[in-house]
Amino acid sequence: MKKIVKNLVLVLMLLLSSLSFAKGKLYVGTNAEFPPFEYLDKGEVVGFDIDLVKAIGEKIDMEIVIKDMAFDGLIPALEMNKIDIVIAGMTANEERKQTVNFSSPYYTANQVIILNESNEDIKTFDDLNDKLVGVVLGFTGDVVVSEMKNVKSKKYNASYAAIMELQNKKIDAIVLDSETALNYVKHNKSLKLAETSGEPEEYAIAISKKNIELLEKINKALEEIKADGTYDSLLKKHM
Ligand code: GLN
Repeated sequence: MKKIVKNLVLVLMLLLSSLSFAKGKLYVGTNAEFPPFEYLDKGEVVGFDIDLVKAIGEKIDMEIVIKDMAFDGLIPALEMNKIDIVIAGMTANEERKQTVNFSSPYYTANQVIILNESNEDIKTFDDLNDKLVGVVLGFTGDVVVSEMKNVKSKKYNASYAAIMELQNKKIDAIVLDSETALNYVKHNKSLKLAETSGEPEEYAIAISKKNIELLEKINKALEEIKADGTYDSLLKKHM
């Protein structure tokens, strides 16, 4: 009898201790098709944003659970409470601000033009007139090119699909975020960037408008991460 009681007490203690160590989970939506911010490496989602959000998780004492999904499904998933935040190199633009809140910005990028190395006639955004330009559906590049009257665009679901078509000369150029574009050019000798760049834009973490408390926690964590050197070491690791 004594033994049973002793065992029961042990089991109870174990249960209690596991409870007190269980961290709250933070469900993070991303789209792992945007190197070096987020991409798949041997089936695992990695990148600058992923390390950044893990550092935030440590600061706010929450376990990070990454959910990889289509880029245009991220804000709807946030609205439907399927995820708590989005980190996806997402530009904090006016249109998105109507639906969600954004953290303070954590990266400044701009739109650039990717070309085949042999291309000599495109130097500026104006030179895209009458050309066929690849963009990724719903990205900033899509918005920018759609506003240019004389430019025809071809929309892709993922940037690597546009890159393949450029290499096969099916399109003349691609308009894409600077850091991702640079990453492609670094790894493909047949590609180059035009020496021009568009308006700066800021990446931030998206959070539901209903969750102000989380927004404040994340901003505080971001501040700490920038102040304590974590942010710089992540830049060095990924860019
Ligand atoms: N910064 C771009 C946007 O927000 C692209 C982001 C991405 O593809 N992950 O539209």
